[in-house]
Amino acid sequence: MTTLIEFERVSRYFLEKQALVNIDCKINEGEFIFLTGHSGAGKSTFLKLIALQDKACEGAVKINNINLSDLSTSGANAYRRKIGFIHQSPRFIDDFTIAENVALPLRLRGFSYPEAQRKVRAALFKVGLLNRSQDYFHMLSGGERQRAEIARALVHSPMIILADEPTGNLDRKLSLEIMELLLEFNKIGTTVIIATHDEFLLQTYNYRIFDLIQGKLEYRIIERQNNLVKELVCEPLI
Ligand code: ADP
Repeated sequence: MTTLIEFERVSRYFLEKQALVNIDCKINEGEFIFLTGHSGAGKSTFLKLIALQDKACEGAVKINNINLSDLSTSGANAYRRKIGFIHQSPRFIDDFTIAENVALPLRLRGFSYPEAQRKVRAALFKVGLLNRSQDYFHMLSGGERQRAEIARALVHSPMIILADEPTGNLDRKLSLEIMELLLEFNKIGTTVIIATHDEFLLQTYNYRIFDLIQGKLEYRIIERQNNLVKELVCEPLI
């Protein structure tokens, strides 16, 4: 197993507030990780450090053994383009269609129009929204909006997917749909880290759980009853 992401004694403070405290952890290439903890425990900060939207006050966040703080401006921008970030409450441009919104990350990355079109269609197909491509964001339901957000985060085939409470506003059936979609991308080798409060997801899927408790990291082990878990996973999505 190859380590992709490594935190070495990472701390992040906001004035006196300790958002992350002396974090040491390793995440392997292709892993699926749950990041959990109460509101304010440091989950978003953890994800932002990986996305290079924020920097550690102490310690090192390394990707493929490279300290993100050592990257040049262009190196940092190139790295950021390899990340797919899924927000709990996605924001889309109202005057653009779903397809135009999903195409934005590709336009920023300099893809030609035909290539971008092809990728947008593939991403929307993957999340089951191809037939909504000419609609506008306000026309979509909550679950469809989250799927559109996933299409936009994944359209450029990122190396790492970071999802900040992507199922926070959804019911159980839709949460499972979103999880299954993320798992599909994980199956083709994408490393996925999902911040979630949802005990049901933690119980249902057997992946490593990083538990943040007031900025400190603990690993959580769940004793699963195999039959029960199997039953829940097999619950029909429709
Ligand atoms: P979570 O995602 O688990 O809810 P956050 O990572 O958003 O937690 O926040 C962790 C702590 O850091 C909280 O106490 C929060 O108020 C504080 N914090 C996060 N971002 C900032 C910021 N930009 N300025 C000041 N405090 C912040």
